[in-house]
Amino acid sequence: MITAKNLYKRFGDQVVLDNISIDIAAGEVVAIIGPSGSGKSTLLRCLNLLEKPESGIIRIDDVTLDTEHYTTREEYALRSQTAMVFQNYSLFKNKTALENITEGLLVVKKLPRRQAVEMGMSLLEQVGLADQAHQYPVTLSGGQQQRVSIARALAVNPKAILFDEPTSALDPERVHEVLQVIQTLARRKTTMVIVTHEMQFAKEVADRVIFMADGHIIEQGPAEHIINFSDNPQTRRFLRQLI
Ligand code: ATP
Ligand code: MG
Repeated sequence: MITAKNLYKRFGDQVVLDNISIDIAAGEVVAIIGPSGSGKSTLLRCLNLLEKPESGIIRIDDVTLDTEHYTTREEYALRSQTAMVFQNYSLFKNKTALENITEGLLVVKKLPRRQAVEMGMSLLEQVGLADQAHQYPVTLSGGQQQRVSIARALAVNPKAILFDEPTSALDPERVHEVLQVIQTLARRKTTMVIVTHEMQFAKEVADRVIFMADGHIIEQGPAEHIINFSDNPQTRRFLRQLI
């Protein structure tokens, strides 16, 4: 479903992704872990060209793009394969929960309003927020806002969802409700790539964990194996300092 080959990304002189290759199957849930600054967010952002890699090939489902030269049309096609959920929700402040979801359906998908609203309500129901449809983000808790942004990501019917630390801005008592929504999506075989610091969650939800450090993939494998039994010194050092 998602393949990246030899992704190379620099910021100035600093190499942030050093020829990274990944391969994620349809329906697979992959957690990316690693120290701060290791390139996790950059990798996610390169997959939808929010950051432009210097070189490398990206394929998502039926769209392939050579990051060294591509057209605007190819860029758009690749970007519309995925939806991204950010740490800070990034909802439109001047739109209600429902309007945040219907926006993309009306503007991008050009659905008739009635159909967009119907779909928006059904998505809000899926994340347990149907009764908050007409609230503005400022009146919602962080966990509720994040659930709205997940519903918004689902609305465009992406081939995969990319999460960048979806729970790290939340109060501890709000983390659970967001993880539960992601867990439900995992059971429905939604392809997801999740950058997270929640090791317990990674073990519960991810089919595979990728450990990154200094722009490299150090190791990857079943979550339990990497998090509990890795004998790689870099992985162990990272996990130890999380406790
Ligand atoms: P964290 O766990 O703190 O979110 P991360 O693994 O997501 O870290 P990235 O955000 O991908 O790390 O950053 C990787 C490196 O690239 C860091 O050294 C960071 O300072 C640098 N970097 C990221 N974005 C930019 C940018 N827009 N301009 C310059 N340097 C950047
Ligand atoms: Mg990051």
